[in-house]
Amino acid sequence: MRVESSPLALLGATGSIGQNTVDLVRRYADRYQLVALSARTRGNELALLAREFPAAQLCLTDPEARADFVGAHSDLVDRLAPPGEEGLLELVAGAPAGAMVLNGVVGSAGLRPTVSALERGLDVALANKEALVVGGQIVLEAAERGGGRLWPVDSEHSAIAQCLRGNPKDEIRRLWLTASGGPFRDRDPETFGDIELAEVLRHPTWDMGPKITVDSATMMNKGLEVLEAHLLFGTPLARVNVVIHRQSIIHSMVELRDGAFLAQLGAPDMRVPILYALSRGTHQECDVAPFNPLESPELTFEAPDPRRYPCLDLARQAGEAGGAAVVVLNAANEEAVAGLLRGELSFIEIAPLIERALVQVDRPAIGSVDDALALDVETRLRSRELVAERARSRS
Ligand code: MG
Repeated sequence: MRVESSPLALLGATGSIGQNTVDLVRRYADRYQLVALSARTRGNELALLAREFPAAQLCLTDPEARADFVGAHSDLVDRLAPPGEEGLLELVAGAPAGAMVLNGVVGSAGLRPTVSALERGLDVALANKEALVVGGQIVLEAAERGGGRLWPVDSEHSAIAQCLRGNPKDEIRRLWLTASGGPFRDRDPETFGDIELAEVLRHPTWDMGPKITVDSATMMNKGLEVLEAHLLFGTPLARVNVVIHRQSIIHSMVELRDGAFLAQLGAPDMRVPILYALSRGTHQECDVAPFNPLESPELTFEAPDPRRYPCLDLARQAGEAGGAAVVVLNAANEEAVAGLLRGELSFIEIAPLIERALVQVDRPAIGSVDDALALDVETRLRSRELVAERARSRS
């Protein structure tokens, strides 16, 4: 019997998650049909994908990149949505009923497309943790209203979802998120002032895009993941632990109320959690190189040192303070990371910049997506000014 392939809208198709997803779609062409592809700036890569997957509607969100694309690929223009968020929303609206949306967009830019898909009743495979964390309860309510389900792509949350199959929520005592510790896990914090951008971008175990690689070095990524786990699994923040596990073999663990631990292990290859999300929480045949316990290194666990990773505590504090603080945390971090990548901010200036933004938060909660995005824009403008100030003071 021929199984019908399921429609897949891929937002962020040229990034690291997008490329891994396309690899899976190529391997299992009978299972998935790409109905939408978006990218931010990489127009030529999008054009190649567009020709390979002729059923896909397209969006290039960056207006300048889109203008270049229109000039260079006139044959693809009738498949091209408007730039920006409007285009992403058009792709979501155009996806057929029963489609899955894989959101691999970076940052809060992915919030409205996620909410819109869930409200339409479409399932969302979510790699875009910033969208969930910034939207918080609003995203969960959109899923409740529309009937769409969230499937985590993040390897830690996929691991927890896999461990939890069949375990009721009230059996959970604690979640344990594993972290590699990033490139500076052994470096003397006294020398963090000398860190160069190239060193930040050299992650020890995972090959990922620049934003998440910087977030892994500061461990803001793990901080956002603590907030993400709290939202996805309903576990109180104080019961979401973080442990440094250098080998990145155990992707996370669940401690049950009788003290039993469940862990999910595997090679650090994002295609496995992506496939689990695309398969709506089922384990399907997959031929990526598996983990071999007989060749495994020793598995080690260490507590993260707060002096080395101040961003981890900032994320927890923001989570305890409420939704508005989380929006500010994320927006200030996105601008700090962008500043670092442009060479305008140094590594040790990231946490203080976020802390400064958090001090100014004057309300606990946010009421709507519009409120969240307005606060996001406001915080970005302020943070960008602070980054520019730092850059000026150095030159
Ligand atoms: Mg992760």
